[in-house]
Amino acid sequence: MIRVVTLDPHDEKHLAKLCQTLFAAFGVGCEHSGHVAVPQGTSEPYDAGKLLEEVAGVRAYADDKVLYLTSKKLKDRALAPGSAPTSGYARYGRDRALVTTFGIKDLEVGLRTVARQALHQLGHVWELHHCLDPRCAMYPPWTPSFPQGEALFCTFCREKSEQKIRLAKS
Ligand SMILES: [Zn+2]
Ligand SMILES: [Zn+2]
Repeated sequence: MIRVVTLDPHDEKHLAKLCQTLFAAFGVGCEHSGHVAVPQGTSEPYDAGKLLEEVAGVRAYADDKVLYLTSKKLKDRALAPGSAPTSGYARYGRDRALVTTFGIKDLEVGLRTVARQALHQLGHVWELHHCLDPRCAMYPPWTPSFPQGEALFCTFCREKSEQKIRLAKS
């Protein structure tokens, strides 16, 4: 089960649509499992790694994954030649990921981009690496073309995620 946990208010209609997309991509149930406050002293832009360490959990089973959703700005990530805006973060191979809707003006149109980010970060949680196929959600998210893509995996990443999910269940 993928548990979407909101850190600030989001439209239930958008959350339902996001869950539908995640269910279609991973073949795993998805639901909005509640709201938690960010840890005391957290200020914008959020340090995604620190936030995921410190934020409260929700009641979940051992193989559940938690996707935290915020609308606040995340700290830019450092890259060799400078820095790039961050729209998500994941604890690779562990249990939680974070995605922000920050910078997306109209979620009716931009929800696809948020879902693509969510797929990417949850993909890392299920131990997927970056992918060279620009259409795939595991393509590096700081590339200019990433936000325009669909919330889909390539065949290779889809099969790999299914394999990881099966392994986690057994
Ligand atoms: Zn990545
Ligand atoms: Zn791929």
